[in-house]
Amino acid sequence: MNEETYLPPALRPKLAKLRIAHLRDCLLHLPMRYEDQTRVVALRDLMVGESVVVEGVVEFAETQFRPRRQFVALIRASDDDGSSHFTPRLTLRYFNFYPNIVKALTIGNSIRVFGEIREGRNGLEIVHPLFKKTDAKPQSSEGEALTAVYPSAAGIPQAALRTLATKALKVRDWQAELLPAPFRESLQLLSWSDALAALHQPTDVSAIGALESRNHPAWRRVKFDELLAQQLALKDAKTLRAAESSPSITPTQLISPLMMQRLSFTLTSAQKRAVSDVLADLTRDVPMTRLLQGDVGSGKTIVAALAALACIEAGYQVAFMAPTELLAEQHFRKLTHWLKDLPVQLTWLAGSLTTAELKAAQDKCKRGEAQIAIGTHALFQKKVSFARLALVVVDEQHRFGVEQRLQLRSKTLPLGEGAQRAGEGDGVRFNEPDDNPIPTLPLKGREQLAPHTLMLSATPIPRSLAMSYYADLDVSVIDEIPSGRQPIVTKLVSEQRRAEIAERIYKAAQQGAQAYWVCPLIEESDKLEVQLQDASALYADLVMIMPNVRVALLHGRMKADEKAEVMQAFIENEVQVLVSTTVIEVGVDVPNASWMVIEHAERFGLAQLHQLRGRVGRGSAASTCILLFADKLSDTAKQRLKVIYETTDGFVIAREDLRIRGPGELLGPRQSGVPGLRYANIEEDIDLVEAARDVATKISADPSFNRTAFLARWIQNRTEFAKA
Ligand code: ADP
Ligand code: MG
Repeated sequence: MNEETYLPPALRPKLAKLRIAHLRDCLLHLPMRYEDQTRVVALRDLMVGESVVVEGVVEFAETQFRPRRQFVALIRASDDDGSSHFTPRLTLRYFNFYPNIVKALTIGNSIRVFGEIREGRNGLEIVHPLFKKTDAKPQSSEGEALTAVYPSAAGIPQAALRTLATKALKVRDWQAELLPAPFRESLQLLSWSDALAALHQPTDVSAIGALESRNHPAWRRVKFDELLAQQLALKDAKTLRAAESSPSITPTQLISPLMMQRLSFTLTSAQKRAVSDVLADLTRDVPMTRLLQGDVGSGKTIVAALAALACIEAGYQVAFMAPTELLAEQHFRKLTHWLKDLPVQLTWLAGSLTTAELKAAQDKCKRGEAQIAIGTHALFQKKVSFARLALVVVDEQHRFGVEQRLQLRSKTLPLGEGAQRAGEGDGVRFNEPDDNPIPTLPLKGREQLAPHTLMLSATPIPRSLAMSYYADLDVSVIDEIPSGRQPIVTKLVSEQRRAEIAERIYKAAQQGAQAYWVCPLIEESDKLEVQLQDASALYADLVMIMPNVRVALLHGRMKADEKAEVMQAFIENEVQVLVSTTVIEVGVDVPNASWMVIEHAERFGLAQLHQLRGRVGRGSAASTCILLFADKLSDTAKQRLKVIYETTDGFVIAREDLRIRGPGELLGPRQSGVPGLRYANIEEDIDLVEAARDVATKISADPSFNRTAFLARWIQNRTEFAKA
């Protein structure tokens, strides 16, 4: 390595925090804003916080000693004689000063300085302003009109970052144009070197707006390249997976028909289609990566169960994972029920097990005895290994977040030395080789086998995600709700009429109906107490006014087995009214429950309301969802309630959710940290996502395209960090 490309050793640890491990990385550490050092701002127009050039005549200058030694000067505009009471003045303050500063700031001198305007004790001031030559034309001597301001970590001066960027920009090799001309021309993209120069050292002052809002052609180029790298990496990941082997599953149909016989329903045609998609994937000896998307209540679980049985019939194991213990437990019970007396070994694996139980469950997985292991992400811990894992089912996968999805994905791949895959774009997740939770053991002397993956989700995928992070996923959609369901009636009711509602629920419960009564989630932990109090108080009230009806309370602070016990009582209709916090939000399935009351419905997001409402309307009885709202509603709350009142269609709701919350938020707090992209935004830059996808399919055929070098630009620095 050339000496000039070394980073200053003293700065290295700090630069590492900015993900700069090599001088080259400075090129893609792009400015967040710019300072205009050529625009001279009149003294009367100064604004606090702005970095500006100002000119003036020194009116006063002296060394002061209180509160500490400092040199202070006062300037006024040159064309102002200072006679007016309103003459604007600016204080210049130096705590470290040298004779040349004192000399320059002699009373009567005309000067030009640059710095950030602050609110001082006696009006506006600049601390440690920089001197500028008074005769400098608006285009400064270096030809740079705008000075880049970089994202920085404490301790790295901007000047150092600028120097490093300047150095990096001098290395020709790093600015090589890697995008073949035809692609660049058809998209009218700047050359790579022009783009980098325009971003680091812009010469065009008027571009400041476009640069800062990231709409400048230079940004377009950078974002395009980043998105192209993502697309190529996704393709690589897909190719890699296709090169991997998975068990090819030929269902023997020894067990699944027996299970189907005992179901009280037949599959909808949408479910049948999904099953045949999945079974077709499983017969292939490359890993399946399929998302099963279907609105709440559309019956995704049975599809997953049939996929699982196909694998079990062929002699393999299945891991079935849910985001919460409550939901995992419910799947465990449901599958136990569906598979009763059939030769299938189910194993429960969750964090709440005792150490001995956990060990026993892990042993069963390891020895291959557990044919279906059901649980939470405890399934994916280091110690869990499977002898013959063929399929991983991930329920409510949208709850896991994009990052976790990518992680999970990489975890289901066998990891070799170095473990780094030309994986998922810039956001490659690195796993330590010993962090591989689902190791795949060699089967019959073949190379390692990777399990198939089936993900279930009720959340429709927006186009932007479908084209980027989810681009390599196959999708089956269940677009049909099982027949015989009655539509859910939704009512908006002021909370002042709660007593009336309680009366109705009481009547219904006496006639054998069941109800959920949900209190809102409050995130912060101290408020969790309040929520608990709310739920407990409500519970006490309802117990009192509902004699002969069993009311129960379910909340997140209860132990897993207590929760399970309450839930079981509700499933068996021993409990008619279930007062609950939002622990029941996802997936809970009790078909006989036909009433849902939601307290403070205005506090919930649309997706949550839709999920909660989806807990009813699962059986043959007509269901009602009552949304209690407090009096003062914000506009967005009103809009949300209107949407949920008007439609039960998950797609419409997701679209409206996107509209009301704005793009980028759809993924929710759990997913807002979409990994990988530093500069492009898949919502705002959807046209570039599209272009990148298009180019990615064509560019591989271009012999002049240096794919490795291109990907290295975006991915390499990450590798170094992973090793650091
Ligand atoms: P989700 O897609 O929301 O996960 P579930 O798989 O929990 O939905 O199914 C919802 C309910 O509908 C369950 O009680 C399930 O047994 C039932 N169900 C599934 N498929 C059908 C069908 N074809 N006809 C009737 N009921 C069905
Ligand atoms: Mg479900």
